[in-house]
Amino acid sequence: MTLTREQIRELAELHDSQSGALSFYFQPATPRNKAHKEDTILIKDLAREAQRNLESQGKKDCARADLERIMRMSGELRSNGTHGKAIFACSAQNFWREYELPAQLPGTSLFVDRHFHLKPLAHLLGAFPRLGVVLVDRHRARVFDFRLGELTEREDMFHPLPRRGRSDGFAGYDAGHAQRRVEDEARQHFKHVAEVLKESIEKGVIEKWILGCLDVHRSLLELQLHPYVSKALLGRFTADVGHISNDEIRSHAERILTEWQDRRRRELVNQALEQARSNARGVTGLRRVLRSLELGEVQTLLIGEHFQAHAVECSGCGHLDAHLVSHCPVCGKANHEVVDVGEAILPWVIRRDIEMFYVKDDPEFDKVGNIGALLRFRSESNVQSIDSASGNQSVQERAAYPGQLRRFGSR
Ligand SMILES: [Zn+2]
Repeated sequence: MTLTREQIRELAELHDSQSGALSFYFQPATPRNKAHKEDTILIKDLAREAQRNLESQGKKDCARADLERIMRMSGELRSNGTHGKAIFACSAQNFWREYELPAQLPGTSLFVDRHFHLKPLAHLLGAFPRLGVVLVDRHRARVFDFRLGELTEREDMFHPLPRRGRSDGFAGYDAGHAQRRVEDEARQHFKHVAEVLKESIEKGVIEKWILGCLDVHRSLLELQLHPYVSKALLGRFTADVGHISNDEIRSHAERILTEWQDRRRRELVNQALEQARSNARGVTGLRRVLRSLELGEVQTLLIGEHFQAHAVECSGCGHLDAHLVSHCPVCGKANHEVVDVGEAILPWVIRRDIEMFYVKDDPEFDKVGNIGALLRFRSESNVQSIDSASGNQSVQERAAYPGQLRRFGSR
């Protein structure tokens, strides 16, 4: 079962003040002889290490039942190399969810914390729009949902061509008439497909789509598309509806999606940097990004792939602060230290449906602190705060904080 956005939101909302939220990601080892056994050993090791860490913090019973359950399951997890898996558990809240994921996780890992650890998921979801793949010819159309590498057929529309009547053998009026009828039926069919697409986008079933068809049919469909349906088209590939396998469709869709993501990422980084330089609809640096997130201004969040920074999180209101102060400046309650603020902001990002991209090897982006955002608007208070702010949080400032906390069992 693949994850829906609603399910991810459910994960983002769970908070356990006793630090009993367990997240387990399983990335199958590349198939080789003893892979299955090695996976089993690795999972048990991770679970034991997490248990030792909890014991050393005096939280012996925390997450214990869930860790034992994971250990018992370790033998069942098949190393067939085709699927990864994620388990989210919090026995104190009677919570246990298992999901299959594409085998594209950074590795097998286990975390026990106050929130679920969602970064491996965010990497997968990062910039995945609700994507449809549409295959079409003169009388057939197949519509697929493409989510996290999984292709699911949603609709198979078939409009049989009108049967050729007995009069086909005669020249003149009847033959011309039959020909026009065939063209007309085809036009109706493409029009209908265009309608279905428009409706799917209006209802939010898909946000973007990819078209697979023969060149001769392409213009026939594209003539019928509503402008915003055309705008949502990410790319095209050549395909014969009747003769293409699901694997072929998937690999075309994956390639087009990746190209689009790369283009979009580059555009957004450039825009954010430019907008931030002119104090307009962009911010860079951890402090300002956190502020914009809390103000609800962020449209797109950009984070360096290896971004690491400490912060504090309020135990009362959840306020995140890049200043490592012991009490919340908003409500006065005690703050927790957050080892990886890039992880801590994910629940915010997911709850608010903010588009997010991980940015890789971009020196310009690195210079501004490896974190930035494009804003949908800029509130007054933020304009003031930015005018009075002096530069980005420096590298020294971040490095000066002695990292005392460590995450459990991450690999
Ligand atoms: Zn607070």
